[in-house]
Amino acid sequence: ATPTAIMVGTGVGATHGVLIKGGDALEKACNVSCLVFDKTGTLTVGHPSVVDTLHLHPSMSKEECAVLAATVESSSEHPLAKSIVKHACESLLAAGYGPKDDEGMTFDTPGEVDIRPGYGVVCAVSGSSHSQYMKRHKIPFASVAQDLRVCIGNRKLMQAEGLGVPDSADLWMKKQEESGRTAVVFSVGSTVASIFAIADPLKPEARDVVEYLQGMGIACAMASGDNWRTAHAIGREVGISDIHAGISPGEKVEVIREMQRNNVSVGMVGDGVNDSPALVASDVGIALGSGTDIAVEAADYVLMRDNLEDVVMAVDLSKATMRRIK
Ligand code: ADP
Ligand code: MG
Repeated sequence: ATPTAIMVGTGVGATHGVLIKGGDALEKACNVSCLVFDKTGTLTVGHPSVVDTLHLHPSMSKEECAVLAATVESSSEHPLAKSIVKHACESLLAAGYGPKDDEGMTFDTPGEVDIRPGYGVVCAVSGSSHSQYMKRHKIPFASVAQDLRVCIGNRKLMQAEGLGVPDSADLWMKKQEESGRTAVVFSVGSTVASIFAIADPLKPEARDVVEYLQGMGIACAMASGDNWRTAHAIGREVGISDIHAGISPGEKVEVIREMQRNNVSVGMVGDGVNDSPALVASDVGIALGSGTDIAVEAADYVLMRDNLEDVVMAVDLSKATMRRIK
């Protein structure tokens, strides 16, 4: 494209909150024939919340489990972790524990925390400091003073820890997953203590945007670290059937490379650290402005309004720019 065409295209983008990193970036998007979307925070709002819990522990109360789960998750930045902390605060306050003001509750920072991306978090919680916490907040508790090995995460994490999820709980998880929720398992020692069902709704424009892109002849796919069932349920809601689920950041790159081997020009739309390698590997990386710095840096386009309609805008701008030079 001519410098003028690029200037115009970049300028029009900027007025709509679509930041385009240079002429190359602007020229590439017009050829894209497949767009791969991340699920969490890209197709979905990215503010998950706990909508249901299954309590299993034979001696620890719901409240004690909530405190332990939140203690572990307070050390993680993962959106699922934040939803579990928030849920614990709310349910403790609702049960009449903790401060009565609007400040909410805070949880002790646990000892050694092992954050396992794509799996969850494993941690040893000091039994004595946990007991002190419970006493301080006047919450009845069952645990003894010994240290507690606590895990919170997906099935893969439980497998890695050698913990089996009881059949009835597994059935409950599957039901939740089939309605698009993420089920997170929480264990204390060798006991599966509770399961949290977490919902993260679709962005209101997601379905229309996917349909519109498909109408333009652009195939849409999904790449998610979340489990197969949840990803497929969200896929059905949004109109995407090409789903790659339960995959690591490196595997997201592989999905893109495989498409490129078939001579498909691939765009990647994502927001997370775990999308960054795929944003770099794709022909056109599109990051959401609310995304992590690493994703924003890795992308060719940044959508400042966080609205998926601007994916269409990015492709249109590129097409218009390339038309102007022909
Ligand atoms: P996504 O691509 O959906 O952003 P991630 O790769 O971040 O997924 O995580 C994949 C899965 O790992 C999550 O769906 C969840 O089951 C599990 N997981 C990761 N971190 C945590 C955490 N802090 N707490 C609970 N589960 C977690
Ligand atoms: Mg994401």
